[in-house]
Amino acid sequence: MFNYISLYKNLKLRASLLKKMQDRRLRQLIQYAYRHVPYYRKMFNKEGINPEDIKTASDLSCIPITGKNDFQNFDKNEFVSEMVDIDKCVKMTTSGDSGGIPFTLYLQRSEHIRLWKLILLRFMLTSGISIFHKCCVLAPPLRFPDSKKWFQYLGLLRHYYISADQPPRIAARKLIEYSPDAIFSYPGVVNLVASEIKKMKHSGLRIKTILTSGEMLDEQTRELAREAFGAEIYDLYGTVETGPIAWQCHKRKEYHINIDSVIAECIKSGISEPGTDRCGRIVCTSLLNYTMPLIRYDTGDTGVFSQNKCSCGCEFPLIKSLEGRLRNFIKLPDGSVLPPAMFIEIIKDAQYKFIQVGDKYILELLPGKNFSMRTLPALKNKMQNRLGPDADFHIKIVDRITKGSSLKRNLVVNDT
Ligand SMILES: [Zn+2]
Repeated sequence: MFNYISLYKNLKLRASLLKKMQDRRLRQLIQYAYRHVPYYRKMFNKEGINPEDIKTASDLSCIPITGKNDFQNFDKNEFVSEMVDIDKCVKMTTSGDSGGIPFTLYLQRSEHIRLWKLILLRFMLTSGISIFHKCCVLAPPLRFPDSKKWFQYLGLLRHYYISADQPPRIAARKLIEYSPDAIFSYPGVVNLVASEIKKMKHSGLRIKTILTSGEMLDEQTRELAREAFGAEIYDLYGTVETGPIAWQCHKRKEYHINIDSVIAECIKSGISEPGTDRCGRIVCTSLLNYTMPLIRYDTGDTGVFSQNKCSCGCEFPLIKSLEGRLRNFIKLPDGSVLPPAMFIEIIKDAQYKFIQVGDKYILELLPGKNFSMRTLPALKNKMQNRLGPDADFHIKIVDRITKGSSLKRNLVVNDT
């Protein structure tokens, strides 16, 4: 039974029991995918994989990794279960902006509720938000629902939507007008709106919690949120394809992997390396999606997994840090890449955007009030060292960071 109470109870389970639950769900999924999904049936037959041999997550390594490109090369019916009427499914599509490949995921309604709604509800409730709190969603309007749900008319899970496709000053005013208890948004939007709120001095806002996802969260944004809203940020990592993958608990250090809904592997040089403190590609197997199973799906993200135990007591495994989307990495002349997390270490007290156009690198820098211009040569040196002595690199001091069509930002824009 996978209702909310059992989901919540899972947070208290010991790691060994969680692992057993995960393996049981994996076996069921593999059997189902082999019987009913043409793509996996053909793949298993071609590779000589007997689905009965996949008993635990550690057996997954014999299954080839599937990437977004594979979905482009086959008919969608190859990936969807033969037992499901696709016309009755919930369709979730990634926009394909920022250079990504558009992707459409099909789910039955019950799966959509389990994979998205209930797991997000668990994240929300464990972050100190109750079902009676007023929440404000600051996001591109494409994500806004058309109508209210029945429970929202009763004052439960009230959501107010503010478009992120407008100047931050206007978004900030609307936020003050609505005066929510919590904010759901992207780190970049929180950053810009928090800067506006800070300028207003007494906004009257009493925000309890801010939940973010969708982008890299940096320390500067976290600090700004504390100053502007007096609130802590809890970050969630997930993708449209896999649902929520991992979340920050109240310790706000590492990310707990949703072991009851997903198997996340860290792949380095083609090998799964659990908790090795080395950065690798994040490959996921979604345990709750039978309509369009994703087995060893390459998310395109990278991260460092950890074997630490969180002091919050929850024994869900941990991701130490998320290094970002590969397409947002900086490509060096020698062909190697640098993760955007590099900037979090180097740039303090300033907002920034790193732009790569061909072999030219520009760092747009918007100094914060504690930023000393005297540190600029040292910063330039550090950056130059990372990029290489021959890299054509310049720092441009700006009074606003250029952005695309919405407030959603990419800290690194790679236009190569
Ligand atoms: Zn924790």
